[in-house]
Amino acid sequence: MPPSMYDYLIVGSGLFGATFAHEATKQGKKCLVIDKRPHLGGNIYCESIEGINVHKYGAHIFHTNNREIWDYVNGLVPFNRYTNSPLANYRGKIFNLPFNMNTFYQMWGITKPEQAKAKIEEQRAEAVAKMKAAGVTEARNLEEQGLYLVGKDIFETLIKEYTEKQWGRPCSELPAFIIKRLPVRLVFDNNYFNDAYQGIPVGGYNKLTEGLLEGVECKTNTDFFNSGYRDWRKYARQLVYTGPIDEYFGFCYGKLDWRTVQFKTRVMDIHNYQGNAVVNYTSHEHPYTRIIEHKHFEMFNQAVYDCPKTVISEEYSTEYKEGMEPFYPVNDERNNQLAERYRTLAEKETGVVFGGRLAEYRYYDMAPVIEKVINLWRSLS
Ligand code: FAD
Ligand code: UDP
Repeated sequence: MPPSMYDYLIVGSGLFGATFAHEATKQGKKCLVIDKRPHLGGNIYCESIEGINVHKYGAHIFHTNNREIWDYVNGLVPFNRYTNSPLANYRGKIFNLPFNMNTFYQMWGITKPEQAKAKIEEQRAEAVAKMKAAGVTEARNLEEQGLYLVGKDIFETLIKEYTEKQWGRPCSELPAFIIKRLPVRLVFDNNYFNDAYQGIPVGGYNKLTEGLLEGVECKTNTDFFNSGYRDWRKYARQLVYTGPIDEYFGFCYGKLDWRTVQFKTRVMDIHNYQGNAVVNYTSHEHPYTRIIEHKHFEMFNQAVYDCPKTVISEEYSTEYKEGMEPFYPVNDERNNQLAERYRTLAEKETGVVFGGRLAEYRYYDMAPVIEKVINLWRSLS
């Protein structure tokens, strides 16, 4: 190849692109990473406001059960001891999440696991009977799944309206799997994740991006489609594309739908606004789904008060329109089928790796994205 040529042109500096560049560079490959945004890191990017790392694209909590991935990221930047324990505010009343003995105490005043078990059974009875009468053993939609999982009271207080705000559709029209991963525990344990490891990079996520992209040539404000790089074979032997899959193929089969989140971020002249990083608002009374108070991801105990201000973000879940950031794939029949057709096209494209949430049109947490790239490199070498 000509000496100026890259082995890989990588479109997108999010976790997929950055991890790919890191692994490729370790193998002696020459990479160029381009991103259309004015910064690197994709959705994990943080903006420093008043000394607080603000999660600009929504709260990100790293969690994994995979020791290798945990060691990998900690090898780049140490992680702190943040444990995600979100609260739910339903019409002014606070409940602990995920659904555990604290929640059941707050909901029903019961104090023992056996009482909770009996109460949930009683609450589920109607849903179980309905499903039996319909001759189904698996919940057919999110409403059935919620009622089957935890029964009427919890479904109506903590799931129904929150989910409708988040997805903009009735629960009866959403797939059950969305809430299948929500834990239900008969112990007093407010840790949202079941994983063995979780935390936030010390100094914020930009440190993780910097660690991954150390020694890699990067260009921001560079859109693949509106730059010479569209003609990528002139520059690189292979392309790694992490943008939206439908855009790569010129929307030839039509556009995929996305859900997105809009943020209203405010600096407040107080030390501590809500005493927790994440508070979900689970009723329609508030138009936003959650309020994030960013300092609690990285500041604990006295540090909260050593920092005189706080930054909060209200999250408004909305349907994606042009010019917004595409966040969540929409898991309905039309979009799943359309994405499959694009994936078939992608398989036929030579010299191109399609990866990450946008190019695969799949919801991925951070750790599985890193794991995927590492396994990809393993299969290559
Ligand atoms: P992205 O981070 O989206 O990166 C893609 C990059 O490609 C972007 O920087 C974009 O600008 C760039 N790009 C796109 N098109 C072009 C183009 N034409 N030219 C140049 N560049 C382009 N995961 C967790 O593990 N824990 C969490 O708590 C968590 N919370 C989340 C909250 C929200 C609101 C969202 C949206 C996601 C959350 N995630 C969380 C998931 C996490 O963000 C993803 O796993 C991760 O960002 C995936 O990285 P990616 O590289 O696939 O995509
Ligand atoms: N959910 C809910 N009430 C809550 C939190 C979550 O009903 O207080 C439901 C909601 O349908 C959401 C799903 O659980 O889409 C998954 O939520 P989670 O917080 O795990 O994922 P995220 O919204 O961060 O992607």
